[in-house]
Amino acid sequence: MGPVPTQHRNALGKLRQVAKIRFRKPPITAGGIIVLITRYLHSGWMIVHLCFGMWTLPCPVELRKSVPRKLREELRNAEFESWKVMPGRGRGVELYSQVPKANAWIFNKSGLSTSEWATCLKMNATLAAVRGVPGRSLDGSRCRHGCPETETLAHVQDQCNRGLLLRNARNHHVRSLIANALRKKSWIVEEEVFCLATNGSSRRIDIIAYSQTTKKGCIIDPTIRIETGSSQPEDVNQEKINIYLPTVGYFKTKYQLEDIEVIGLLIGARGVIPKFFESYRKTFELPQTLTADIITSVLKRSCQILSHHIHSV
Ligand SMILES: [Zn+2]
Repeated sequence: MGPVPTQHRNALGKLRQVAKIRFRKPPITAGGIIVLITRYLHSGWMIVHLCFGMWTLPCPVELRKSVPRKLREELRNAEFESWKVMPGRGRGVELYSQVPKANAWIFNKSGLSTSEWATCLKMNATLAAVRGVPGRSLDGSRCRHGCPETETLAHVQDQCNRGLLLRNARNHHVRSLIANALRKKSWIVEEEVFCLATNGSSRRIDIIAYSQTTKKGCIIDPTIRIETGSSQPEDVNQEKINIYLPTVGYFKTKYQLEDIEVIGLLIGARGVIPKFFESYRKTFELPQTLTADIITSVLKRSCQILSHHIHSV
């Protein structure tokens, strides 16, 4: 028998990793036993075997197919777990698992050009050519456009003045997508509305949607930021509540409403959709295509912001 090819050795190594994770001695709990019994009973093949005898029927094709699928899933999960705990590169990555469907652009490109798609992959892997990445620049890690900050992807996407106009355009486009979807559901919607807070200061909200029938309304503020952690959606929501709650009285009087809720909706600048966003989309009965449209829009514009930052003089 000749030497084992390198790719086979790698595959064997990976499978050993999975085996270590999967076959570690699990704690026996009542919940665990119920799950095992449920899985067993859910398998049609097992039920047929129990009824007609295990020795007479061959293993069906579906079950044979499910084994490699399960292995791939375990490998994928193991890689994700190791990515999640990486210092720096794993920051905010746990948000990717909240709505897995939102990551479909990685496989189907979702309307991105090949170059945009490649840039998005780089941003997701924190490999974009910003100066903050160690070893990327001989001129130091400060922002190339004069900001006294380290040039990280978060600085480029969320803070740098260089991308201010493009950042605003990204926000406006997402705001319009949400506002139009709400209008189709018979809400009365206004965008970019000037208002006054209780202390007399002026503010401008992104969206107010209300119904004259129920006398209820919502102030919705979609916010696009680089992903930083699993609690970020709730933190952003709280931040927006603190900003816009003092304006609720103004809108109650203006539109004769009885109840107004403030909602801050975080959307990841790298196309991540948190569970928090999806739960509100379902509450408002907005279509799934809205999520897909928002992801494509955000990814395209985040690419523009990065490209403008790196290539414009
Ligand atoms: Zn800057």
